Amino acid sequence: MASPTLPLATILEQTYGMQVSAMSRLPGENENHLVTTTDGTRFVFKLAEADTTPEWIDAEHAMAEAASELAIAVPRIVPTTRGERAPVISRTDGSARPGRLLEFVDGTMWGEALPPSDALLRNTGRHIARLATTLGPLDLPPARRTHRWDLTAAGDLRGGVALINRPDRVRLVEHAFRLWAAAQQDLATVPIGLIHSDLNDENVLVEADRVVGILDFGDALVNPLVCDLAIALAYLLLDVPDPLAAGAQVVAGYHAERPLTPTEAELLFPLMCSRLAVSLVIAAERRQLDPDREAWFVTEEPAWRALEQYAILDPVEAADRLTEQIELAVYADRGAPRDALATRRESRISGALSISFDTPVKFIRGRGSYLIDERGWPYLDLYNNVCHVGHCHPRVVAAGQAQMARLNTNTRYHTDALLDYLDALCDTLPDPLTHGFVVNSGSEANELALRLARTHTGREDVIVLENAYHGHTNTLIDISPYKFEGPGGQGQKPWVHMAPMPDGYRGPCKGQGRDAGVAYGNAVGEVIARMERPPAAFIAESLPSVGGQIVPPDGFFETALAHVRAAGGVCILDEVQVGFGRVGTHVWGFEQQGVVPDIVVMGKPIGNGHPLGVVVTTEAIAHSFADAGMEFFSTFGGNPVSCAIGHAVLDVMRDEGLQQNALEVGTVLRDGLRALMDRHLLIGDVRGTGLFIGVELVENRETREPATAKARQLVEALRQRRILTGTDGPFDNVIKIKGPMGITRSDAVEAIRAFDEILGGPTFAPSG
Ligand code: PMP
Repeated sequence: MASPTLPLATILEQTYGMQVSAMSRLPGENENHLVTTTDGTRFVFKLAEADTTPEWIDAEHAMAEAASELAIAVPRIVPTTRGERAPVISRTDGSARPGRLLEFVDGTMWGEALPPSDALLRNTGRHIARLATTLGPLDLPPARRTHRWDLTAAGDLRGGVALINRPDRVRLVEHAFRLWAAAQQDLATVPIGLIHSDLNDENVLVEADRVVGILDFGDALVNPLVCDLAIALAYLLLDVPDPLAAGAQVVAGYHAERPLTPTEAELLFPLMCSRLAVSLVIAAERRQLDPDREAWFVTEEPAWRALEQYAILDPVEAADRLTEQIELAVYADRGAPRDALATRRESRISGALSISFDTPVKFIRGRGSYLIDERGWPYLDLYNNVCHVGHCHPRVVAAGQAQMARLNTNTRYHTDALLDYLDALCDTLPDPLTHGFVVNSGSEANELALRLARTHTGREDVIVLENAYHGHTNTLIDISPYKFEGPGGQGQKPWVHMAPMPDGYRGPCKGQGRDAGVAYGNAVGEVIARMERPPAAFIAESLPSVGGQIVPPDGFFETALAHVRAAGGVCILDEVQVGFGRVGTHVWGFEQQGVVPDIVVMGKPIGNGHPLGVVVTTEAIAHSFADAGMEFFSTFGGNPVSCAIGHAVLDVMRDEGLQQNALEVGTVLRDGLRALMDRHLLIGDVRGTGLFIGVELVENRETREPATAKARQLVEALRQRRILTGTDGPFDNVIKIKGPMGITRSDAVEAIRAFDEILGGPTFAPSG
């Protein structure tokens, strides 16, 4: 180890047997010194971070050796007189760090050679591609790592958005992180290998139209290969006029050497933006540590300028522009513009099928918690509960594709898929719910549930909750007050009986806690007492969603079910909207109330978008159904493809801890929205459990006058910020939140901020 008290020049002379004539510290983040010897030879002496391991130094050496095969000067390590590559250098301040002496690479930093010529841009692209083809395949175990700049882990930095104190800039960074988040699924499909990971304007050296050097492999890691190109585009285009035209030249150079796939090309723009966001968040973090360390902040303002320019671009347009010099079909699935579809829809589909939003959207792809429109913009989906484990979840897609290619048939033959699936599903249910029927939709499942109940009891009458919805078939419309009392409804049938919605915020027993639960439960008993014939069934959603995202007060189901059972009726709980872990605390909504129904109905999330429904019941009810003699058969119900998909959904839920995520993120979201009540009088109530949340808007907190028009405006305003929600409840004044179960804490924070900013705007001043 070199002596701690000597100046660095003396240490170098002793260690390397050289005669130093001049030394100066080079600009940049790391501690690098330019060393000139008496014979005029120049070197760079690099001091590594204290925690740099010998294995890493060997890995960097291996990269430099491999890169030297390219016609690029990559600095190679000069060993000490004793043959060491990285002698430990002790300094007067007591620190001891490995140092490396590198050959000097002559050239101008990219950032000092602006504006770049097209030839230089293409040449740069070619060199980045050669890095991918040469370094990419190197298997260096220490490079299988992550670090703060790892673009595949950029999501870890999303929380740092809070350190940025200008709201306009927060929006820019959020936009970039949303592009990042929506790109994750695709990023996981592209080729990976060793990448440089820091091709910035200081690390690329040029001379005239040529790249002559690539420096600093200190951030290298195994990553998608396309990340190097995106990182280079993020930095090298800073303050370049018409950056995407320049980027297209780089991309063309790259593509000529290593052809990009359409997916890789589509990833470039989101990755460029997210690298800038990463850099800006890290700069914000560093400012807290030492605001005077200029080297940390050199790219900050140019990065803000770039992100401002990029944030207004459609990602599809950006992809088109970046690939304008090459033949590659990006976003080949974009289809017709949404306005063209609006006209076609009018002439092809009945107006009875309405479309969401005053300004409807068109989507071309689903990715996790995001839907992508035809311009490439990702929308945060807080609304669709069907894509339960995430839109187009790769494991679910793969399970369906594999089974589709193997066998698809009906349930009159033995297949493993049907029984494996029912075993797995019934394992999530309490006894005595043991017998299942697989069908194709929530409606079909509710129809069958009614048939089971009626067959078992030999009765007809059904008790339902006010404003309930259970499906679109004729019988289900008859038991759905939301429909039979709504526009075009034919009114209540004599065999249908309505009990009050167990709403703790509105309704006859509001605000009484558990007493309200018991009172609402007793109201079911009162309905039974008034009935001329005893009920076949009582049907309710475990947490009524169409009814306004209601969390029934404790004791409701215990009391209601006791009355129904005492009258010999069957209890059907509809978990179509709320099942499968959505409530966070349990797999099934009814478990929160400590009850077990006689029949459970499942749909929507069960197949992550594949048409699937299941009815599970007791052995006794299943037997009565069989004993009645009429056969049950559904052509598609229970086919092996549906079962494989349903099974994959259960596996993903378990493996990704989605119920726990719903609990944690749902709580952040609900509590964050609830905290907004201090500032926004329009919010009368925020309720929910897990990722089942309702935000009820009122004109006046005393009278609870529903703010129906404003709820609709809020949903539209959220859509403009590319956040999907909807309204529900008898007055359509409850904002419904129930998106995919993998929504992150950052998504929740972003959504809360959007609610806050929109409600703070001029449209939403309350009148009362
Ligand atoms: N039950 C409930 C509670 C529902 O919300 C729905 C659909 N919105 C259904 C049943 C019917 O399901 P499907 O549309 O799959 O027929």
